[in-house]
Amino acid sequence: MDSVSIKTLDGSMKEVLSSEIKSMRERFSGKLLRPDDAGYDVARRVWNGMYDRRPALIASCVGEEDVVAAVRFAAEHRPLTAVKGGGHSVAGYSTVEDGFLIDLSAMKGIDVDPTKQTAVVGAGATWGDLDRATQAFGLMAPGGEVSLTGVAGLTLGGGMGFARRAFGLSCDSLVSVRIVTAEGEARTASTEQDPDLFWALQGGGGNFGVVTSFTFRLHSLGPDLFGLSVAYPLQTAEKVLTAWRDFAESAPREVSLNCNIWSVPEVEAFPTELHRAPFIMLEGIYAADPEAGGQLLAPLRRLAEPLWDESGRTTYLASQSAFDEFLPDGKRYYWKSHFMNGMNDNAVDKIVEWANRRINPGTLVVLRHLGGAVADVPEDATAFGNRGAAFNISIDNGWNSPEDDEANIAWSRECWSDLKQISTNGVYLNFNADDGARLLGAGAQANVRRLREVKSRYDSGNLFRLNANVEPASEARNSSR
Ligand SMILES: Cc1cc2nc3c(=O)[nH]c(=O)nc-3n(C[C@H](O)[C@H](O)[C@H](O)COP(=O)(O)OP(=O)(O)OC[C@H]3O[C@@H](n4cnc5c(N)ncnc54)[C@H](O)[C@@H]3O)c2cc1C
Repeated sequence: MDSVSIKTLDGSMKEVLSSEIKSMRERFSGKLLRPDDAGYDVARRVWNGMYDRRPALIASCVGEEDVVAAVRFAAEHRPLTAVKGGGHSVAGYSTVEDGFLIDLSAMKGIDVDPTKQTAVVGAGATWGDLDRATQAFGLMAPGGEVSLTGVAGLTLGGGMGFARRAFGLSCDSLVSVRIVTAEGEARTASTEQDPDLFWALQGGGGNFGVVTSFTFRLHSLGPDLFGLSVAYPLQTAEKVLTAWRDFAESAPREVSLNCNIWSVPEVEAFPTELHRAPFIMLEGIYAADPEAGGQLLAPLRRLAEPLWDESGRTTYLASQSAFDEFLPDGKRYYWKSHFMNGMNDNAVDKIVEWANRRINPGTLVVLRHLGGAVADVPEDATAFGNRGAAFNISIDNGWNSPEDDEANIAWSRECWSDLKQISTNGVYLNFNADDGARLLGAGAQANVRRLREVKSRYDSGNLFRLNANVEPASEARNSSR
């Protein structure tokens, strides 16, 4: 391989000599990819079509030794470095123009121990991979709601799925994590080993190194359960949202409810006459006996004349992938979120007002009810802030043409700014298109301080900065002077 011209952390370009690339290759079992190599375009591809970036060099790792070699290369040459797990970062953090990409997508190994009820999961696995492996034993780790997202990024940022109120966030089920920190040292983090690092990895994102595998504690669920999926016309939004809120506030923790406001996508799954029709949809699962779940959730299916009602007995696997086709990769996306302490009638009105002011039928507004097991964990027990919030609202904008970027991004920002008045001032970092970890939340400022201390200890030079970035404490002090 020839020498490589690569962008560095300070923005300048650096020539890495062919002899240096050769020496890295000798220690590397996976593929080192340049723009003309077969496999380069697949390795650089990410979900959000806004980020069509071309790294100068991609290290497609097949094991922990490869990750060590890649991180040592980055520590020596200081390239602008991105890390890719499942590639579903909303903000496009897992790719980089002219820089160095550490691609983990081939590291998909999963080892389930049904006796101990644990799973060791490679950092390139998706939630679909993990759900299939664990459901073979009637077990699950709490993941997200789209099976194509990566276990890595979702868990490191927290992880809110359909079983969150029963079993907590994804990061709450972590037993330990294998990680290669900025100096290129592989270590295990858990409550016993490097506990500060383990704390930071539960909600603090990809700031502290490259995770090579996650060990999860598993829970019994499925294969069958009751799934709620009923849609009403948007004209009924105020009534439906109010009833959903009231129901959610007194629901048992087996129920985790979402409320989606959207317009029917123009896809075959829906009859043509419904295409683009705005709707409000109530969704969720009952994480216990399907019969009991059906009876409990029945009132939410009778709030008005539904557009459709697909509620009923389903499987955990089906509920985990029901939304996959509606958020395809390659489209252009911009998302922002808020946590909310509650939802009074004024908040309901605000949300309905913005639902009606959407300029793009592809803008999906998702409300998630929290509490239950999410709130059992003390605010400072993990880096994830906002444990006490009752709801999260996510404004998930998606469109096709670059010409529509400006209008859609401006609309999303205006909506998000106005909704601040009904929020805790904290955001969910995994749903945010463009803000750093300082936005973890007003209530989580102590967590932000501790994250900076941990960052200083494990990545003082901020090598891992393409993420919801936590500045090392020393840099943060300098920038506030
Ligand atoms: C369609 C879709 C649906 C979603 N649904 C949910 C949901 O239901 N619940 C929820 O909580 N979130 C959800 N999210 C948000 C999701 O949690 C984030 O987008 C998450 O970052 C995706 O993880 P990933 O591994 O696929 O992403 P990547 O793009 O690979 O990575 C995301 C971030 O994590 C870092 N990272 C990735 N792997 C590693 C690693 N091994 N070590 C260190 N850092 C790493 C990256 O550098 C980047 O900063 C959804 C996102 C999408 C696009």
